[in-house]
Order: sequence, then structure tokens, then C-alpha cells
Amino acid sequence: MAKSPEMEHPVKAFGWAARDTTGILSPFKFSRRATGEYDVQLKVLYCGICHSDLHSAKNEWGSTPYPVVPGHEISGVVTEVGNKVKKFKVGDKVGVGCVVESCRQCDQCNKDLENYCSKLVLTYGVTDTDGTPAYGGYSDIMVVNEHFVLQWPENLPLDAGAPLLCAGITTYSPLRHYGLDKPGLHIGIVGLGGLGHVGVKFAKAFGSKVTVISTSINKKKEAIEKLGADAFLISRDEEEMRGALGTFDGIIDTVSAVHSLSPLLSLLKPDGKLIVVGAPGKPLEVPIFPELITGRKMVAGSMIGGWKETQEMLDFAAKHNILPDVEIVSMDYVNTAMERLVKSDVKYRFVIDVGKTLRTQFGVVE
Ligand code: NAP
Ligand code: ZN
Repeated sequence: MAKSPEMEHPVKAFGWAARDTTGILSPFKFSRRATGEYDVQLKVLYCGICHSDLHSAKNEWGSTPYPVVPGHEISGVVTEVGNKVKKFKVGDKVGVGCVVESCRQCDQCNKDLENYCSKLVLTYGVTDTDGTPAYGGYSDIMVVNEHFVLQWPENLPLDAGAPLLCAGITTYSPLRHYGLDKPGLHIGIVGLGGLGHVGVKFAKAFGSKVTVISTSINKKKEAIEKLGADAFLISRDEEEMRGALGTFDGIIDTVSAVHSLSPLLSLLKPDGKLIVVGAPGKPLEVPIFPELITGRKMVAGSMIGGWKETQEMLDFAAKHNILPDVEIVSMDYVNTAMERLVKSDVKYRFVIDVGKTLRTQFGVVE
């Protein structure tokens, strides 16, 4: 009998996978390709739990091929390099984010925007260039072309730093690209979760006045005292929202569920920009009239960032001590963590200690 595609590779691998739309993860044996001449093999040490992992595990975007091994906020250490690899050697600390390959020839790739290449290969939930499934970082090892491997800044912790690989670049890139990184601007961050709380930190580092727009009153004190936000608006409090009408230059919307854009657009000044990065499973309505037309406002999107920019973001975070606030959990806590993520019950990102806990339930501690 022919082997299934995931069994065709020579290197044994082990991770946790969701098998159906319950999204429940359980141990999964699979294989990785042998380290090619331009590849880096790494031992995964930490992996953040992004809400995209949850959307994928439950097939909320309608495209999940099961079994799916999620995870695209990966930090680890190099265990093997191909003979043409230039940037890395065994023992180096590295990161892997949401993309593991692109065509490298198109206009987008030539502009260092591999994230917008039409042939990009996401870290998991898709088919890799060799026709086998791509599996993510809730696993012991990864094999990735060196182009998509990031150099880990020396003073950045591998555990708390891991979420920068997705949450970090997804907020850093639109702030930069849309000119929302200028000192003195009033920036709103909607949704104080994994993406949102890092967005607050980057916007503060760029010198903005930052207001969090949230559904969770219990996050207010900490947002101001710990994360450094200047103000906090409860999005369901109409009076509070009315008091802030027309005062924002830009808003980054990280909300993971379907919600109305109108109240957010009305917070913008004329020419203000609402950048939506949250990716709910159903489309959002865009109120062209009155909101967009009457104030020449813009609604736009943004997806992660290119690889040059991701390295720049990591170096910027290390230099400015921008570190995600994380709750480190063991691999066998992942299903509970996912349940808590649905309820926005995490401050602010779960990170799985993959290196120490992936195999403990089998009595093998590495
Ligand atoms: P998260 O940690 O769950 O944070 C999302 C936040 O949204 C929650 O903490 C909550 O903040 C708010 N929220 C949740 N349900 C809401 C509702 N019904 N109405 C209003 N606000 C609600 O998720 P994340 O990991 O930051 O990811 C956020 C979204 O971005 C996901 O959809 C994910 O797939 C997407 N994403 C996109 C990209 C990209 O490249 N564009 C990259 C990564 C992730 P409050 O408690 O403060 O209200
Ligand atoms: Zn993500």
C-alpha cells in the first residue's frame, strides 16, 4: 500500500494535532524532510498560541486540512544546517514565524514582501512545495529554508519573545506601513489580546498616545499601569465612545470575532485609518456611507510582514525591551489554553514550553 504523504519523509517527528472541527489536540507522530542544502533544522523550544491556531484547529476559515499541527510563533535552537546555509550554524538561537516558503521571484518577493506572494507556503494548514502537508511548531523539530529563519537577538528571551514572530510583526508592520509610527499620533488598539497588547507596546515605542478599545473592563488597570497605555475605552459603553469621537489618527483592530466597524470608524479624525488585522471566520460589513465618505477615512488590512521587516521588528523589540506578557504552559495544557483563549482569558499570550513538556506524558523528558 502506498504511504500517505505525511509518512514519506525520512526524519521522525512528533507533535500535537487537531483531527476534526472540535479543534481538540492530541499527540501525533509524523515526519519531516531531511535537511536540504539550504535548510535549517531546529529543535523547537517554545511556541506561542495564536488565535489563528484556534481558528485553524476548528476550521473556522473553512480550509483546514486535518490533521493539523498548529503553531507559528516558534523559537528554538539550530540542530543541523545544509551545506549551502550561510546565516546559521548548529547551536544558534532562531525563530520561525507564519511562512516557510514563497516563490522568491515575483514582484512581492523582490520587494521583501514574501507575505504577499501568491505562492507563499504558510507554516501549517497548507500543502508544502513538495506536495506534503506543512506542520507547525507544536512539535519537536522544524526544517525550514534559511531564508525564512530569523536570527534571534542575544538579549531577547526565547520564551516570552516567541509571540513576536506573529503577534509582534502583525502589529508592527501596519503601524510602519500606514505611517502610524510618527510621534504624537493618537493610536487606538482594539482587542487587548495577544496581538493587541504587543501593538500597545510598539505604538508607545513609536511615541504615540495609545488608547486601548476593549470589551473587558478587567483589563483596564493593567493596560494603563503595566502596558503603558494612556487611556482605555470600553467599546460597549456608548457614552465613553461618544466622548472620544473624531479623536484618533489610526486604529489597529485585532478582534478575532465578528463585530461592527462603524463605532470604530466614528472614532477616527478625517483621513484617519482603520487597519483591520483580526481575521474572524465571517466577513465584516464596511460602512461606506456615512463613515468612510464623510470623513475621507480608510479601512485597510495587513497580514504579518515580510522577512526582512520581521528581522527588523525582532531587533527593534530587543533594543527597546518590548517583550510580550506571557503565560507559559505545558503541552498537555493546550486544550485548556484554547478554551481560555475563546473567553479572552489570558494576559496576554499563552506560550507552550515545547522543549521541556512535549514528551513528558510519555515519560521521555529531553
Ligand atoms: P486573542 O488573543 O484572542 O485576542 C483577541 C481579542 O479580541 C480578545 O482578547 C478581546 O479583547 C477581543 N475580542 C474577542 N472577542 C470579541 C468580540 N466578540 N467583540 C469584541 N472584541 C472581542 O487573539 P490574537 O491572537 O490576538 O488574534 C486576533 C485576531 O487576529 C485573530 O482573528 C487572528 O486570527 C488574527 N491574526 C491575524 C494576523 C494577520 O496577519 N492579519 C496574524 C495573526 C493573527 P478585549 O478583551 O480587550 O475586548
Ligand atoms: Zn498568528
